[in-house]
Amino acid sequence: MVLSAAREPLELRELPMPKAGPGQVVLRVRACGVCRTDLHVVDGELPRPKLPLVPGHQIVAETEDGRRLGVPWLGWTDGTCRYCRSGRENLCDAARFTGYDLDGGYAEYAVADERFCFPIPEGYPDEQAAPLLCAGLIGYRSLRLAGDGERLGLYGFGAAAHIVAQVARHERRRLFGFVRSGDEDARSFALDLGCEWAGWSDEQPPEELDAAIVFAPVGALVPAALRALAKGGTVVCAGIHMSDIPSFPYELLWEERVVRSVANLTRRDGEEFLALAPRVPVRTHVETYPLEQANEALARLRSGGVRGAAVLQL
Ligand SMILES: [Zn+2]
Ligand SMILES: [Zn+2]
Repeated sequence: MVLSAAREPLELRELPMPKAGPGQVVLRVRACGVCRTDLHVVDGELPRPKLPLVPGHQIVAETEDGRRLGVPWLGWTDGTCRYCRSGRENLCDAARFTGYDLDGGYAEYAVADERFCFPIPEGYPDEQAAPLLCAGLIGYRSLRLAGDGERLGLYGFGAAAHIVAQVARHERRRLFGFVRSGDEDARSFALDLGCEWAGWSDEQPPEELDAAIVFAPVGALVPAALRALAKGGTVVCAGIHMSDIPSFPYELLWEERVVRSVANLTRRDGEEFLALAPRVPVRTHVETYPLEQANEALARLRSGGVRGAAVLQL
């Protein structure tokens, strides 16, 4: 499924079989998760995708010699810039991202640099494993950057929050879920996933939070989340794109509150999270679509209708 221009539907096209370059493997795609980032690419909200592009960066695939590998968003780094040399390859100056700079997994076949692929833990069917590769990984990195506080707020209960909630409960944290005002389905989903309280995103939780992770791409949630924080608390913005953050009084940031973002992932995040996921165990809730219905899957994600994660199944 190919994106030729932003804000156009993806087209089903026959492409030449991809060939592996140095260090790459050819992969037969078995499942590919549909991420909000894909939606930002298709909707023209990110500045410079390769075009034409095969989107998709949560690929579960099989190598020619029968191994099952996962391909994440971080597809290549130079290994030499100041970020790579200081354990921050997620910030690499020359990074290439799967389904953005490189063709991704909305396809029957893909190629990937094997150094950036992960073995998929056993016990996960392909479609259940796919959301671990971005929703899970970025969620995990966000949770680490949120600190060790006990009371955690999650704003936006999509694919990433539904995984993070399980990890956070495993770490015996207390969870508070915030969903779009009036979205009773999302509220009940948040409660099912272990939130002790779930309410609308403009509401105050019953007690102060030590940290909050904002998954929804809505800038107005940043001051809302700050308002819910205890002293010294952190708001983590987990998305790659967000609408503008409205101005807010300094008082909301005072007392050592922190606002920060999370960008991309490192391979270490992937190794840690994929080792942790089966121990929790993280169970993903997925809606599957055939490859040729990628546009329908994206539309459903855009409308907020997906419970858990949408996955293309091949
Ligand atoms: Zn680098
Ligand atoms: Zn993603």
